[in-house]
Amino acid sequence: MERLYIPAIAKGMAITFSHIFKKQPTIRYPEQKRPFSPVFRGLHVLNRDEEGREKCTACGLCAVACPAEAITMEGAERLPGEENKYREEKYAAKYEINMLRCIFCGLCEEACPKDAIYLSETFAPANFTRKGFIYGKDDLLIPDVNTDPEGYEKARGKNEPTTSSN
Ligand code: SF4
Ligand code: SF4
Repeated sequence: MERLYIPAIAKGMAITFSHIFKKQPTIRYPEQKRPFSPVFRGLHVLNRDEEGREKCTACGLCAVACPAEAITMEGAERLPGEENKYREEKYAAKYEINMLRCIFCGLCEEACPKDAIYLSETFAPANFTRKGFIYGKDDLLIPDVNTDPEGYEKARGKNEPTTSSN
């Protein structure tokens, strides 16, 4: 019996059959996504206040804190009449993050004194060009929750279809 490998074959088949009726861990990405860990750090979001005004003041602390030198920005002075767009007197006229350099450490979020940037529960999609990974302000600024609540939730990664991991 031992020399015919029958016990080993039977054991192997038993293991195979035991897996046939188990729920498969495979998921149908991208329609389904696994729930993220509570400490997951994904794509950056430039935040607005409850009135929809941009919070970033272009102070540069996030760029200084970034170990990958992935953040660049240009500041500008708020003009009279723009109080409904920018919360403070200075704002980021240009704000860019190079996602190819970023290591998603979260130090920019920690460094920001204005709660103006945080790492959401989404991630940068694949792209065919290097330029496609330079995210500008248009890509990063969260939609105004008052005028586009759906876009706001999507940017935060809160209404993505998810599935359990097993
Ligand atoms: S997550 Fe880290 S590496 Fe990425 S931009 Fe922020 S500080 Fe830089
Ligand atoms: S995101 Fe925060 S730390 Fe970075 S420039 Fe804007 S206000 Fe300053």
